Amino acid sequence: GVGSESSKPLSERRASRPIRLGKLAVGGDAPVSVQSMATTDTRDRQATIDQCRMLQAAGCDAVRVAVPDDDAADNLGAIAKAVTIPVIADIHFNYHLALRAIEAGVAGVRVNPGNIGGQKRVREVARAAKERGIPIRIGVNGGSLEKELLERYGYPAPEAMVESAVRHIRMLEDEDFFDIKVSLKASDVPTMVRAYRLAAKTFDYALHLGVTEAGTLLQGSVKSAVGIGMLLAEGIGDTIRVSLTADPVEEVKVGIHLLKSLGLRDGGMTLVSCPTCGRCSVDMITATQRIEKALENVSEEVHVAVMGCEVNGPGEAREADVGIAYGHNNVGLLFKKGKVVRRFAADELEEALVAEVRSIVEERSGK
Ligand code: SF4
Repeated sequence: GVGSESSKPLSERRASRPIRLGKLAVGGDAPVSVQSMATTDTRDRQATIDQCRMLQAAGCDAVRVAVPDDDAADNLGAIAKAVTIPVIADIHFNYHLALRAIEAGVAGVRVNPGNIGGQKRVREVARAAKERGIPIRIGVNGGSLEKELLERYGYPAPEAMVESAVRHIRMLEDEDFFDIKVSLKASDVPTMVRAYRLAAKTFDYALHLGVTEAGTLLQGSVKSAVGIGMLLAEGIGDTIRVSLTADPVEEVKVGIHLLKSLGLRDGGMTLVSCPTCGRCSVDMITATQRIEKALENVSEEVHVAVMGCEVNGPGEAREADVGIAYGHNNVGLLFKKGKVVRRFAADELEEALVAEVRSIVEERSGK
C-alpha cells in the first residue's frame, strides 16, 4: 500500500497550487484523484444521476457531465445533489451555460476562456466562479487548437498546446482568478507527455492528466497507462481521467488500477495471478475472472493470489495476504503469506478463497 517501502513514489511530486472541487482537494499534496465523465444525455436527469451514482460506487472521485444546452443545465442542481462526489460541468463556447452551471451548484466548470466571446464574458464567469469558490479547468486539446497556433507551429506541437493554455490562463489571471486547473490532452502519447512536461515547467497550476480519444478498453487503457503513468512517475499530475470508448465505470477501474500500480492509491483488492503455463491443470483464466468478479467490491486493502501450481505458487506469491494454488489430482492449497494453511478439493478452492478474503476484510474493517 501507500507508504510501504516497495511503493515509495518514483520521484518527488511537482508542487502545484492547490484547488478544491467541493470537498475534494486537488493539487498541492492532495492524493491524485480519479475522474470520469458521464456518457448519458444530461437532459435525461434520472439516467445521468444513475450513472453518476454508479461511478461514485466504483470509486470515482469527481464526475463531469456535458452541458450542451439549457435543458441540460436545468438538471445540474439535481445531479449535483444526488451524489456526494463533486460534479463538474463541461461547457463549450457558451458563457450563459457556464453562469447557469455555477448558479446550479456544480463543484467545478470546464470551460476555455478564449472560446466564450471576449474578456467581458470571461469577467462575468470568473466573478461568478469566485463568489462560489468554484475552480475552472482549462482544457486544451491537441485536436482543436487555435488556427493561428496550428499555422505557426505546423502541427499540434506540445509548445503550441502550452501556448494555448497560457493564453486561456492569462484571461482568467487578468480577472484576478487563480483557481485554475489545466489539461493538455492529445491522442498521441508522446505529444501529450511532452505537453504536460512543458506545462509543468511553465506554470504551477494543478494538472488534470489524460490521453484523449484513447480508444476502446484494451487500447485506451494501455495508452492511458503509458501516458498518464509516465507523467505520474515523474511527479507530474494531480488528477487523472482515463478516456475510454466504454462504460465509464471501466474508466474508473482502470484509473484506480493505474494509481495503485504506482503506489499512489491504496484500498481494494490487489489480485496477483500467474500467467499459467503447462504446469497448471485447471482453467485458471476463467477461475481468476470469477474470483475477481466475486471480490470486485472489496474496499479494504487486501492482496490476493491465484496461482496455477502448488510447486511454485505459494512461494512466488508469498507477499499475498491469502492465495490459492491449484495442484494435480483435483487438490489445491490455500496459503497465507506463502504458508500453506489448508488443502481443498480443486473445485472447492475458489469458494474457500472468497470466504477467506471476506473474513480478512471484515477483520480489517473492524466489523
Ligand atoms: Fe506455471 Fe505454476 Fe508459475 Fe503458474 S505458478 S506460471 S502454473 S509455474
